[in-house]
Amino acid sequence: MLESLSERLQNALKFITRQAYVSEKEVAEYLREIQRALIMGDVDVKLVSQLTEEIKKEFKEPREEHGLSLKDRVVYATYQGLIRILGGEKKELRILPHQLNIFVFMGIQGSGKTTSVGKVAYFLKKRNRRVGVISGDVFRPGAADQLRQLLEGTGIPLYVEPLGNSSVEVIKNGVKWAKGLDLEVVLVDTAGRHRSEESLMNEMKQIIDEVNPTAAILVIDAMIGQQARAQAEAFNKVAKVGYVIVTKLDGSAKGGGALSAVASVGAPIVFVGVGEGLEEFEEFDPVKFVSRLLGRPDLESIVARVQQMSKEERLRMQKIVQGKFTIEEFIQQLESVKKIGDLQALLSNLPGGRKLDKKELEEFMGKLKRWKAIVNSMNIEERNDVTMLNSSRVKRIARGSGTSEKDVRELIKQYTATKKAIRKMSKGALRKLPHLRF
Ligand code: GDP
Ligand code: MG
Repeated sequence: MLESLSERLQNALKFITRQAYVSEKEVAEYLREIQRALIMGDVDVKLVSQLTEEIKKEFKEPREEHGLSLKDRVVYATYQGLIRILGGEKKELRILPHQLNIFVFMGIQGSGKTTSVGKVAYFLKKRNRRVGVISGDVFRPGAADQLRQLLEGTGIPLYVEPLGNSSVEVIKNGVKWAKGLDLEVVLVDTAGRHRSEESLMNEMKQIIDEVNPTAAILVIDAMIGQQARAQAEAFNKVAKVGYVIVTKLDGSAKGGGALSAVASVGAPIVFVGVGEGLEEFEEFDPVKFVSRLLGRPDLESIVARVQQMSKEERLRMQKIVQGKFTIEEFIQQLESVKKIGDLQALLSNLPGGRKLDKKELEEFMGKLKRWKAIVNSMNIEERNDVTMLNSSRVKRIARGSGTSEKDVRELIKQYTATKKAIRKMSKGALRKLPHLRF
């Protein structure tokens, strides 16, 4: 489902997460890739530019409370922006208690109405709802047979009248039939084939006025991409669209376009069709959908992780990311990273960083031990200002800590370079970060 869109978005994400250092330039390139992916997926240009503006804003004016690294921020803004353009929180088909819920399906011919009626009926049946179906397509001779076949073996009752009767009459009779069976839900299939769009809309209006359904469900074919917006608006004028089902998401490269276009009308998408079979049908949940699209099921946890950070740690981090830390605090920070995993993450976030293998990691741990000894051999003034370390002091410290002068110089160099890199970045957008994420 939407493989090419997914692949392009994931490539953009890979590009940004691979960067050791994220500046405006990388973000701009990332946004270009995101834009390209969405536009090729037939997402409306306006929606795309809104989304990319949001991401840019997140980069330029980071919201303090997140405390995320810049990369995570950009990724997270993308994730949330995509969820928003797909309609936000998951919406569900609401079944009202103690009454017959009537759902009238509408949509143009071939959009997948009849198939979707079968799928929704089956979906509800599996959830132990007393559900039935009315075949209200009085134009197509095969319509009732198609429903009969779809529902075969499911035990879902179907109401059919001979061809030639008026659709409004058939549906009215069907509703009586459903009440007689004490059903909770009845789904009404309608015809999409008409001489003109106007006559289709007129008939829909008549049906809606006559049966006064619980909700009208609009069925839209994903193949039409962003044109789905105009279609949803046209139907909405005739009968308020309560819910939308987007079909054929399995075969369309324009699915993202159709979904976002529908959501932009404000119509809640409740289901998507992903194949011809009864079971090839899913509830639509923008959050899960986007996680799958981006291939990052961990996104929610990014924020959760940050929120777990203690206030104390935040203050300390703040000092660090502003580049205001002494060599002692530098060592403390490295030391506080006790878990190897965190250390790995820390190091892979250093400029030019990458994951270390086991040997390198051991080397690093050894180095850390030496660095600690070196700092312990410094006096207070030296710890607060390493620039005063001339060669005689370096010699003294090396001797005192049982290390070499080379070790001392390396530590000073690392500390100074790190501080400089962080200062440079904090002028940009870094404010608060979890752990040492450079
Ligand atoms: P209607 O004219 O609106 O009632 O549309 P139908 O339900 O008859 O569907 C038209 C065609 O689309 C049929 O061949 C269906 O099997 C097919 N179809 C419907 N939904 C889906 C879907 O989600 N995926 C795929 N691949 N085909 C679908
Ligand atoms: Mg049909």
